[in-house]
Amino acid sequence: MFEHASCWIDGSIVPASEAKVSIFDHGFLYGDGIFEGVRFYNNKAFRLPLHLKRLLCSAAALQLELPLSIKELEQAVAETMAVSPLHEGYLRIIITRGVGVLGINPTSCQKPTVIIIVDQLQMITEEQRSKGVRAIIASTRRPTPDRLDPRIKSLNYLNSIMARMEANYAGVEESVLLNDRGCVAEGTADNLFIVQEGKLLTPPTTEGALAGITRLVVLDLAIKAGIPASESILTPYDLYTADECFLTGTGAKLIPVREIDGREILFCPGKVYLQLSEAFAKLVQQETT
Ligand code: PMP
Repeated sequence: MFEHASCWIDGSIVPASEAKVSIFDHGFLYGDGIFEGVRFYNNKAFRLPLHLKRLLCSAAALQLELPLSIKELEQAVAETMAVSPLHEGYLRIIITRGVGVLGINPTSCQKPTVIIIVDQLQMITEEQRSKGVRAIIASTRRPTPDRLDPRIKSLNYLNSIMARMEANYAGVEESVLLNDRGCVAEGTADNLFIVQEGKLLTPPTTEGALAGITRLVVLDLAIKAGIPASESILTPYDLYTADECFLTGTGAKLIPVREIDGREILFCPGKVYLQLSEAFAKLVQQETT
């Protein structure tokens, strides 16, 4: 199962089968921690500085003091990739509050645990990608920023997991989460875009969306290609009536959506999706060769 995985825990490379954390780690006990998922191609991590910047923001929001500098984290990532048999794959950086006593108070945790995993990740088959995926709008909502800001990439993904279980139960591949006002936030582990009359639209991050790195890259690529692109508050109506809809994420890359709540999306895969997917693949290649 983990035959291709390489692991780094608190300064040491550890065989995947022996990679373990304490049962008293507050990341395990309470989801008290943060993470990043990064893709690498040709042994080069794509947009690592942006991921590390977001990691720092998540850490700041949770008052989690990183035990490593950015430079040391970059070195640890390089070290873990160097021992991996993979040249292309997915790497995860996890920082937990560390080992502490039972009870949620984080002050007993003396030192954050730092884990890096390098492995493969395939979210969907290429056949599914070319056909597009079906989604439902989940009854599970993204929390508002005054409860738990969804911009924090924390170790607690129960909200997304519950929405994903709703998709499983409905027999479709993905769920779209709304915020408490019924506006579109994002997918379970991806950002959402629609195309309406040639305009590319995505919900603002203050509406419950993670500030996705792929989202940012896609917005940049659209603007460079002369496609009008902006953040916009969206409701289910906008999804049902969209010309195109697609999801973006490090794991997902770009995935077209062909159906939402039984309503067929007009174009799947649409022209804008195809243009941006191609531009994205080209950019990845340019930056990692
Ligand atoms: N939203 C959520 C909830 C996610 O977990 C992810 C994946 N990290 C994304 C959006 C997409 O972000 P990115 O493009 O940075 O991977």
